[in-house]
Amino acid sequence: QPIVTLENVVKAYGNFTALHNINLEIGTGEFVTLLGPSGCGKTTTLRLIGGFETADQGRITLAGSDVTQEPPYRRDINTVFQDYALFPHMTVAENVAYGLTVRANRKPKEERVRRTADALALVGLADKADRMPQQLSGGQRQRVAMARALVRQPKVLLLDEPLSALDVKLREAMQVELKHLHQKLGITFLMVTHDQEEALVLSDRIAVMQGGRIAQIGSPSELYDRP
Ligand code: ADP
Ligand code: ADP
Repeated sequence: QPIVTLENVVKAYGNFTALHNINLEIGTGEFVTLLGPSGCGKTTTLRLIGGFETADQGRITLAGSDVTQEPPYRRDINTVFQDYALFPHMTVAENVAYGLTVRANRKPKEERVRRTADALALVGLADKADRMPQQLSGGQRQRVAMARALVRQPKVLLLDEPLSALDVKLREAMQVELKHLHQKLGITFLMVTHDQEEALVLSDRIAVMQGGRIAQIGSPSELYDRP
């Protein structure tokens, strides 16, 4: 039973076609990576699934709902952005709790405090709740962004180049954390990266994109003869 499906999805900007007829099915609990060079359409695909933009043609479903007809329920899906997009004037805990305070999804205070604390513990930042983002290292900021996206317990987590702002050594450590989080939570991760090694380490399946198309799709071993 796929949790995300794209059928014949087309997206153009003016007379430039960014996505040509994309077909993709993502299984519940899978870790799928969109891999390819800059400009091949990875982020556009993610933005369409997240409901940030609409497709010109085709159909996208998320947890059974057609997101090409109406935007996805925010509780079904959340996104970790490349630059983390933390609110600089809010503490770590306030950043994480933010998604629980917006009016459409407002939770009672007790539940907000508990879920914020749980999300911070999940990423190993229980002792940083009252820090400001600028007091944190790059890796810690990345983890705040993860906690903020996970606090609403989405079924699908979209990750747009989540580790690309980090130096090589930290990136490798964070890859391990990301993989453990995925295993622990059992939810679906869809990640964009241009880093083949990162895709190989993390993914159950890799969709290799090229010029607005999915050129190949398969497991690391099917595509690259890797475990
Ligand atoms: P990737 O994430 O693989 O680097 P994108 O999905 O961001 O690629 O972009 C795919 C193509 O669509 C690129 O050529 C990019 O310049 C173009 N594109 C993306 N967004 C817009 C936009 N809002 N307006 C015009 N062109 C865009
Ligand atoms: P209020 O919602 O009354 O404005 P605050 O401004 O104190 O509450 O905090 C905003 C949200 O941040 C709270 O709803 C709570 O969920 C969360 N929060 C703040 N500090 C902590 C903390 N130390 N541990 C866990 N969650 C916290």
